[in-house]
Amino acid sequence: MSTQDALSWLKDHEDESIERLMQWLSIPSIGTDPSYDEHTRAAGQWACEHLRQSGFSVELRETGTPEDPGHPIVMAHCDGSDDYTGPHVLFYGHYDVQPVDPIDLWESDPFLPVRKPAEGAMGERIVARGACDDKGQVMMFLEAMRAVFETSGMPGGGVKFTIMLEGEEESGSVNLENFVRDHRDELAKTDVCVISDTGMLGRGRPAITYGVRGLAYTELTLIGPDQDLHSGLWGGKVPNPINELTKILAQLWDADRRVTIPGFYEGVRELSAEERKAWSDLNVDEAAALRGIGLPPEAGVGEAGFTFTEREWARPTADINGIVGGYTGPGAKTVIPSKASAKVSFRLVDDQDSEKIAKSFFAWLEERTPAGCKWKFEDHGGGAPATCATDSAPLRAAAKAIEVGCGIAPAMIKSGGSIPVAGLLKETLGLETVFMGFGLEDDRVHSPNEKFELDCFRMGAKSHVALVEQLRHIESSVNA
Ligand SMILES: [Zn+2]
Repeated sequence: MSTQDALSWLKDHEDESIERLMQWLSIPSIGTDPSYDEHTRAAGQWACEHLRQSGFSVELRETGTPEDPGHPIVMAHCDGSDDYTGPHVLFYGHYDVQPVDPIDLWESDPFLPVRKPAEGAMGERIVARGACDDKGQVMMFLEAMRAVFETSGMPGGGVKFTIMLEGEEESGSVNLENFVRDHRDELAKTDVCVISDTGMLGRGRPAITYGVRGLAYTELTLIGPDQDLHSGLWGGKVPNPINELTKILAQLWDADRRVTIPGFYEGVRELSAEERKAWSDLNVDEAAALRGIGLPPEAGVGEAGFTFTEREWARPTADINGIVGGYTGPGAKTVIPSKASAKVSFRLVDDQDSEKIAKSFFAWLEERTPAGCKWKFEDHGGGAPATCATDSAPLRAAAKAIEVGCGIAPAMIKSGGSIPVAGLLKETLGLETVFMGFGLEDDRVHSPNEKFELDCFRMGAKSHVALVEQLRHIESSVNA
């Protein structure tokens, strides 16, 4: 398999690749809207056909139950060449797209993709729903697979791949967890996951996202008297659930803004000096970020001992996302409410366990129950954090591949957000995920006039071609 041949193939056949992307984009696979079910399935079938043409064995597998069916999942395999000793790679993506409303803000039909010059810059862009999220990003990989097959005759260029494309990502991946559990034996044969659904550090600055945070989301209600009370007759004599709840929640952080729940930091890894230096070298502009949300520079506060970037990428946090109780209408009403409630969530890192965190939070609250009151707890679930070791062989292969494909080494970044599928794969299969994404912040993902720039598409396709060679250089599987 020659990377050079495959890269030349991409260049010589670029118009056809773009044409194929536009064809896929013209299928309105709005997974969340049942009136588009037929189209959503058609988009999955389209991907199957593409992969078949690149030598993969492909199946469209049903999800859900006969009574409550979900959108099918595209599963494709290739065995790898006899001399392949690298990791078995699971590539995950999704073929469903977001709804298009508000439709009147679109400058062209969201499902009649247009190819046009980029605003104020060189190059071109494709405008359509799904152009970036995630058909455009998946297509970089699919065309790379086509290029290596056309030029080497080997499916996947001789790398052992399993490809899993779902049709429900934009509607909460409701059937994915069961699907992964039901196909555990098959998926457990893979060693590492690659996802192209993230962004670059900036225009012309490719990046690998090597970690996302997890989430635990809880809701609690503190119940006091069985009726609202007159504050003149009862205030200061009985517990006021709002007073008590806010007093308790205020104890969630100590003076250093560290979370006080016992065991909360279990599983949080120490930041290495190299990582701290690498992040500081990215020169993230803290003041500009704060300015962008209307805050002065002194508002950059958080857990003591960590920088702006470290607090987002490497530290767990606790936040009250909503708090409700008593009288909230216009004017005054002197009431002591019968109950008060709050939504509290935690962003998690490394090996923290979302279920355990929710449980220990509830136990912590229980210990602080005000006299005569009681709690109602609700665990809204969450997802596991996912971090890929920066010295893992697949991550180094991906970094090298991007350097070959883009002519510049990728920035190694993390994200404070959560990508539940990565946590799911980590929890159920122990897989680490490497995010090789080529989106830009202004791609208008989920918004009208979503676009993907051809420069980004090219960088991604070339990087995925180069990844094949880099994976072939890895001598033994990461799980071996
Ligand atoms: Zn999306």
